[in-house]
Amino acid sequence: MSGRFLCLGECMLELSETQDGTYRRGFAGDTFNTAWYARRALGQGWSVAFGTCTGTDAVSDDMMAFMAAEGIDTSTIRRVPDRTLGLYMISLANGERSFSYWRSQSAARLLTDDDAWLRNITLYARHIHFSGITLAILSPYGRKRLLSALADARVNGTTISFDTNIRTKLWEDEAAMRAGLMQGAVHSNIVFPSFDEEKATFGDVRPSATADRYLSAGSRLVIVKNGPGSVLLKTGDGEEAMVRVTPSKSVIDTTAAGDSFAGTFLAHLLDGADPKTAAEKATAVASNVITHRGALIR
Ligand code: ADP
Repeated sequence: MSGRFLCLGECMLELSETQDGTYRRGFAGDTFNTAWYARRALGQGWSVAFGTCTGTDAVSDDMMAFMAAEGIDTSTIRRVPDRTLGLYMISLANGERSFSYWRSQSAARLLTDDDAWLRNITLYARHIHFSGITLAILSPYGRKRLLSALADARVNGTTISFDTNIRTKLWEDEAAMRAGLMQGAVHSNIVFPSFDEEKATFGDVRPSATADRYLSAGSRLVIVKNGPGSVLLKTGDGEEAMVRVTPSKSVIDTTAAGDSFAGTFLAHLLDGADPKTAAEKATAVASNVITHRGALIR
């Protein structure tokens, strides 16, 4: 099988403090991390593309060169003069990490400003992945435009997946966030929620309640992750499967656990695996990712 797998969202410049007080530069963001893990697991017949906006400055050039070197297709990136990448810094205090963000003016927030460009990159993708963060960084009008482009791509045969990735602070208010997340599911074949976030946001009492809520919105398959707990897969036809997770004894950094899960799952599914097998592969990768520092673990 072959085609274009397109991830939509924001990749940021990451500066992380090292033990000697200097900062190491990297590039990361939830849907970009998913693209990176999908690229590793997918056959070469597939192109894995990242759809976003960057600036026209040197650091935007560097990010695109980094992506290209990692095998990610950057032809789906729109360059916007007078904007640049969002930035986040990871500071270390007594071994604990804290995060500061500068992303309110990032180029990626303009993802839907050029509707013709957006439709051009989305219309011929075999599969499109986006997230609650992709939605949260857009204006309410931008969200509508994105969901409309996804709906049109779907009519054209594209399948869509949505990682809810709930970040309350990025949304204008909680009601808009809950409505936006449900709208994301309305436009998706597959939804990837994490139970702890869903419980906190929607009051779900158990993982199957999370699955049922997104299935009733119209999604065909919901994969509810639950940290070290089992992963629940549930379909619109009422089929259910559980994939056991072996709780790790050496968790170091859970950054990108869910992103690596989604990328690996989708790669195996698109390459023809059944959902349960794809979830087993995804669990194996995610359980390794959390035993290392950072998002992209080779
Ligand atoms: P997210 O990062 O999206 O919040 P989770 O924290 O639920 O998602 O984790 C995603 C996946 O990472 C889990 O389904 C599991 O495979 C793996 N994982 C997370 N925490 C652990 C853990 N403590 N031990 C083993 N695997 C884990």
